[in-house]
Amino acid sequence: SKTYLRKPEWLKIQLNPNDNYKELKQMMRGKTLHTVCEEAKCPNLHECWANRTATFMILGNICTRACRFCAVTTGLPTELDLQEPERVAEAAEQMGLRHCVVTSVARDDLEDGGASIFAATIQALRARLPFCGVEVLIPDFLGRRESLETVLAAKPDILNHNVETVERLSDRVRSKAKYSRSLELLQRSKEINPAISTKSSLMVGVGEEWDEILQTMDDLRKVDCNILTIGQYLQPTKQHLPVLAYYTPEQFAQLKEEGLKRGFRHVESGPLVRSSYHAHEQVQSAALA
Ligand code: SF4
Ligand code: SF4
Repeated sequence: SKTYLRKPEWLKIQLNPNDNYKELKQMMRGKTLHTVCEEAKCPNLHECWANRTATFMILGNICTRACRFCAVTTGLPTELDLQEPERVAEAAEQMGLRHCVVTSVARDDLEDGGASIFAATIQALRARLPFCGVEVLIPDFLGRRESLETVLAAKPDILNHNVETVERLSDRVRSKAKYSRSLELLQRSKEINPAISTKSSLMVGVGEEWDEILQTMDDLRKVDCNILTIGQYLQPTKQHLPVLAYYTPEQFAQLKEEGLKRGFRHVESGPLVRSSYHAHEQVQSAALA
């Protein structure tokens, strides 16, 4: 039988029940909105929401892809909800967000991959919350440049697209995505609008070597990616990729050093770091740089 690595102490977290989490949750249900914070059972939920950061998942919760680390349901989506951008902005206003991350499943079934809905969501957020940082974490739109242009024309503060893992493991870990296509997307973003900060994320513990992580950092810097986040992969269910290594907090600190040395403006690296963790601080340091 398979043996599973035991979860180290630093990954066991205490939830703080003394906040308005329940109320916010009900508000989300009332607006039929999805947040990654809830759906991915993100360990940072209480901290993030208390710090007025949240990640909305637009365009439904059924994905046309099936990445081996991801708990989102795979299937053929049917929804295309044109009112969703406005409801996201309303919810963000009610939460008093200072930083709003907007992401989506991969909608390979749609002509533009959902880019126009991303753009409409950015615009709706700007209209209601002029001082809220807006970050989009986008899929690769199958490499369509026009889709990327549509999103960038709405001027998000941060354009985020995750490489997720090192080149060698990319095909095995992600579904239908390509390492080179992800780098190309980040490069094109800088070509189209160099003023918009770009960002990418890596999860570690899926079988990569240390040197491959450093190589990935170099590849991201070559396309002038500005912000990097690195976090521990955690297996969402036994059907998903097993965790092959738990990195220690010291190793995460070392990776942060390596990233800063390479010229990323901001690096978040830690066991519980997720793409949107401390996203508000990431904008600030990007703006100061
Ligand atoms: Fe939500 Fe991201 Fe914070 Fe997790 S890290 S709670 S997904 S905003
Ligand atoms: Fe999950 Fe992959 Fe779909 Fe993104 S593209 S929601 S990571 S299955």
